[in-house]
Formats: sequence, C-alpha cells, structure tokens
Amino acid sequence: MLNELVSRPLREEHIEYAAALPYEACRLLRPYLVERLSPFVPRTVILFLVPYYAGRAENLSCYASARDYHGYMKGLFARVIPRMQAESGCSFFGFADHSPIDERLAAAQAGLGMRGENGLLIHPRYGSFVFIGELLTDMPPEAVGAISPQEVLPCLSCGACARACPTGFLRGEGAECLSAITQKKGELTEQEVALVRAGGSVWGCDCCQLVCPHNVSAMREEQYTPIPYFREERITHLTKACLAAMTAEEFAARAFSFRGRTPLLRNLDLLDT
Ligand code: SF4
Ligand code: SF4
Repeated sequence: MLNELVSRPLREEHIEYAAALPYEACRLLRPYLVERLSPFVPRTVILFLVPYYAGRAENLSCYASARDYHGYMKGLFARVIPRMQAESGCSFFGFADHSPIDERLAAAQAGLGMRGENGLLIHPRYGSFVFIGELLTDMPPEAVGAISPQEVLPCLSCGACARACPTGFLRGEGAECLSAITQKKGELTEQEVALVRAGGSVWGCDCCQLVCPHNVSAMREEQYTPIPYFREERITHLTKACLAAMTAEEFAARAFSFRGRTPLLRNLDLLDT
C-alpha cells in the first residue's frame, strides 16, 4: 500500500488512484530526462491518474475543452512535491506526458487500469478520460509501498473503437490518426481536408473513446472529474471570435495552443465555423 506521505497530498488534490513501481521495473523511453537530474538516482516511480472528463465538447476533443493539463500538472507538482520532500527527506521530480518512462504501460502494470485496443489506459471508474502523471523519487520502493509489476489486463476487445475510427488508423489501414492531422501545421492534403471535415473537430478526435463500453459510466455526470481545474473555464465550441478574443496568455493556457493559432484557423475555415 502506498505510503501516506505520498498518498495524502495527492488525495487532498482529489487524486484517488495512485500506485508505485520500482524504477528499474519501468520501461525507459527517454533516459536523458533522468540523466539531466544527476546526481539524483531514481529508485521508485509513483504513478497517478488525473480524471478530466466534464462533459462533451462540440468541435474539440474533450481533453482540450479544459485548460491545458500540462499547466495543471506543473501547479500540482509545485504543491505536493515540497510536502513530500519535507516529510521524507528524499527527492521527488514530477513528469507527465514527456516522461522518462512508458507511462501507459507502467500505469497498467501498477494496476491503475487496462490497456485498451485504442492504445489508451482505461480505468474502471474514469475510463480512458484520465491523464497519467508520475513522480520519480530516490525513496526506496519498499518505503513508498511499491508493488511488483502486474500482468497488463486487456480491455473487452469489442472492436468498437476500430470500427468507429474515421481514418482507419486503428484498423491498420495506413492512415494517420485524425487527432494528429488536426494538429498539423501547413496545408493539408485533399484526403486530410476531407477527414477533418468528416470528423467535425477543430482539434483532436474522441471517436474511439466515445464508443468504448468502458467509458459509458465515466460519461455520466455523477462521475465527472472532481478536479475544479478541469470543470471550470471549459470551451465547448471553439470559434474564430472566441480565438480572437483570447489574450496571448489565455491562449497559451489552452491544450490546443501548442501549434499556434494557424492550424486552428485553418481547421475552423474547413469546418466553416
Ligand atoms: S483518435 Fe480518432 S482517428 Fe485517432 S485512433 Fe482514435 S478514433 Fe482513430
Ligand atoms: S472500444 Fe472495445 S476494443 Fe476498443 S478499447 Fe474499448 S473495449 Fe477495447
């Protein structure tokens, strides 16, 4: 069981699902991110889930209707890490998304969810509408309450996500994921234009999540994220007027901002929004 000095600060942030693995049990993807922290030597990885679903968005992927989760994680780490360090005398470093380890695999091995055929981690309560975060620490695995890697559980394998995938990406048809297409800079090919128009999304694609049977209860209002950051200031329909009204700071705080305004304006033109 996870040590209270780690689980309590997370619980107080409404983060209820967390588990730890020995660092050496995790699959390394970007070792240079750890090398940069030298002389720090990680011994344990604490994985946790941040649920974000708070309703559908009309022309944005649900994750992008709230403010950027990277901003949330930065704030979270600034709040919880000093407390954990003060109580343990050990060092902690936070990561999310751009992580040294394969965080989806590690979260599944830590028992935090199944591996979906859509490539996403699926939690029994929050479905695939979760961000994965992790804390690397030099605290020994046994002191943190780490477990040995568990067998990765599969999803229902119903095939609904592959059938619903608008580009055929999940059917191995060679096309790219629509989410990646909406985020491309520059001009799109005729085929990409047709896919963006058919998908109806300015940024991202949720087709494989919305049809997943594991997500049915996660989309009920009583299961919405308890984290205020993801419930407040949501944009459910992005328009040119909405974009134009945003200050540079407001725009930078959005998940859809990282490629600049140009791809968004291009997609809005394609969708005639
Ligand atoms: S996000 Fe959309 S395009 Fe990408 S794999 Fe899922 S359904 Fe297919
Ligand atoms: S839609 Fe079906 S196959 Fe796809 S991830 Fe969900 S349960 Fe698995």
